[in-house]
Amino acid sequence: MKQYNYIIVGQGIAGTLLAYFLLKAGKDVVIIDEQHKGAASKVAAGIINPVTGRRIVKSWRIDDLLPFAEATYRQIEQEFDLNIYHQKNILRSFDNNKQFTDWSVKSVREDMCDYISDECETEHLQGIIRPHYAWGEIHDTARVDLPLLIDIFRNFFIQKNILFTDNFNYEKIIIEDHHIIYNDLKSPKIIFCEGWRSRFNPYFNDLPHEAAKGESLIIRIPDVALNQMIKSGIFIVPTVDDRYWVGSTYAWDDLNDTPTEAARTDLLQRLDKVLEVPYEVLEHHAAVRPVFKHRRPVMGWHKTFSQLGIFNGLGTKGASIAPYWAAHFCEHLCTGTPLDAEVDVGNVW
Ligand SMILES: Cc1cc2nc3c(=O)[nH]c(=O)nc-3n(C[C@H](O)[C@H](O)[C@H](O)COP(=O)(O)OP(=O)(O)OC[C@H]3O[C@@H](n4cnc5c(N)ncnc54)[C@H](O)[C@@H]3O)c2cc1C
Repeated sequence: MKQYNYIIVGQGIAGTLLAYFLLKAGKDVVIIDEQHKGAASKVAAGIINPVTGRRIVKSWRIDDLLPFAEATYRQIEQEFDLNIYHQKNILRSFDNNKQFTDWSVKSVREDMCDYISDECETEHLQGIIRPHYAWGEIHDTARVDLPLLIDIFRNFFIQKNILFTDNFNYEKIIIEDHHIIYNDLKSPKIIFCEGWRSRFNPYFNDLPHEAAKGESLIIRIPDVALNQMIKSGIFIVPTVDDRYWVGSTYAWDDLNDTPTEAARTDLLQRLDKVLEVPYEVLEHHAAVRPVFKHRRPVMGWHKTFSQLGIFNGLGTKGASIAPYWAAHFCEHLCTGTPLDAEVDVGNVW
């Protein structure tokens, strides 16, 4: 029987960063993941965008989340000698005077002026992006290369011999007074970081799950070097060389990771309204975002079995949310500090 401080199920961005912080704190961790089956983290653009929505509001707790996210990803870049945090501003289009005026008014507010402005350079878009009424810019935005980060950590965990590729079988958990046993693994705590599939977990299936399927394309646009991310009804995100991530769609049923013809058509129609240059579709992906009805991440302990934990609900913003809340959960685990009431799963049931 191998003993660990924590067993983590799922190695998306939630499980990866929780394991990362726990290992740094000197804990023994073992991870079980079914080779990223349907993992949202392998499909996401990884956009960190502090200002979202038609109402132009700051994302929840972004003033704390954003600097912590950047510091975490920069630290990982140094430790693993890789580039995952790509600082890139977002150019956001407006179709009429009302939209642009709303933006301009917000852009001079004290709490928003660091993030958005109504002045930006767009001459370089001529002939590439169709003309719009006006453009604004969002600063402090970034693309985090989540698929690369997940792959690098998978190899790291495998090298440390702490990652097992397996579909976790709930029927095999033996819950004893102060620990659980799973096959030949024994631990006081098991933490489920299963993304949207936690709705099939018999211990957490009664949480208010509400997942959203999303589809995206990888396209090649030859000979245009777009540096910023474009948000114009659709996101066009420069990745490497002449490749761009394009997305995404939202579907609240048909929850699976199979790309559909309908979503592809929708994405291409929206793309054609924006792009003026030829492009080639290279890849088409689908995955499901783990969302709860109250639109907040959740972490903490099962209502009956305190040996069973969860870290989930990263929704549409895993790249910006995961670092801060993984560190928060880690601190709770290591020092017993209380969980923030807004994310404590005990307040959700
Ligand atoms: C199209 C799309 C675009 C997105 N764009 C962005 C974006 O630009 N910015 C952003 O911040 N967020 C974005 N997101 C959201 C982001 O992907 C999620 O918030 C985040 O990836 C969720 O991470 P997670 O670790 O909770 O879940 P996941 O990444 O889904 O990982 C769950 C892991 O658990 C494993 N697992 C589940 N059940 C089991 C089991 N029973 N046994 C073993 N292993 C299991 C899976 O194999 C998987 O590896 C996007 C999502 C989609 C779908």
